[in-house]
Amino acid sequence: MNKITLNRFKFLFNQILKGNFRNALRYKLWLIGYQTTLPAFIIRQIPIIENGEALVEIPQHPKIICIAPQPFVRESVAKMLVKVADNLPQNLYLKILYAYRDQETQKRFWDEVVRDTSSLQIAKSLSAKPGGIGPHQTGAAVDVTLTDSLGNELDMGTHYRDHSNIAKIPMFAKTCTPIQKQNRKLLRQAMTRSGFYFYPGEWWHYSYGDQSWVAYTGDRNAVYGEKTL
Ligand SMILES: [Zn+2]
Repeated sequence: MNKITLNRFKFLFNQILKGNFRNALRYKLWLIGYQTTLPAFIIRQIPIIENGEALVEIPQHPKIICIAPQPFVRESVAKMLVKVADNLPQNLYLKILYAYRDQETQKRFWDEVVRDTSSLQIAKSLSAKPGGIGPHQTGAAVDVTLTDSLGNELDMGTHYRDHSNIAKIPMFAKTCTPIQKQNRKLLRQAMTRSGFYFYPGEWWHYSYGDQSWVAYTGDRNAVYGEKTL
């Protein structure tokens, strides 16, 4: 049993010990693959012990293309992005589409997702509902893709935040072609090998240190709370 799997079971037993059977059940449904994403109420009850790391600008790097409007992440996240870029295969580049997001922008994104999907349930799997601490508001999260040496984005099945084909957005969407699956795998391996977790609900979203990261990896507590620029 690898560390992540062990941590996941620890999380489950902790919830049972705390008498939180509803959380434990929903977590178990996710563990056995019955649910793709964990509900927000599980994620939001995860404790945060803020470690005080600063928000820093995404580092300049020959293999990083950053188009994020607010190009900031926490210090450790910035170092991890450099590690990802350092270890990419020769002809691939890491394109950062979004990083830090302030509360106002998060609310606007949420409203757009609700409008595009016409379903609160689906919207919740694609965006952090205002009122909690969304991953991008902490500086923990990045939305990313890969490009070739000419700057062309690899075919991931959908464009970033394109909600016209919702079924194709989850990481393991069955309707993806073999090439699209392979491209997602390339990105996933590059990111997870440097310490990020991948969000199963969106192929582009990765984070480290926030409440979602804890929920999916089973670590003890989050280290990044909300941060303002
Ligand atoms: Zn995201």
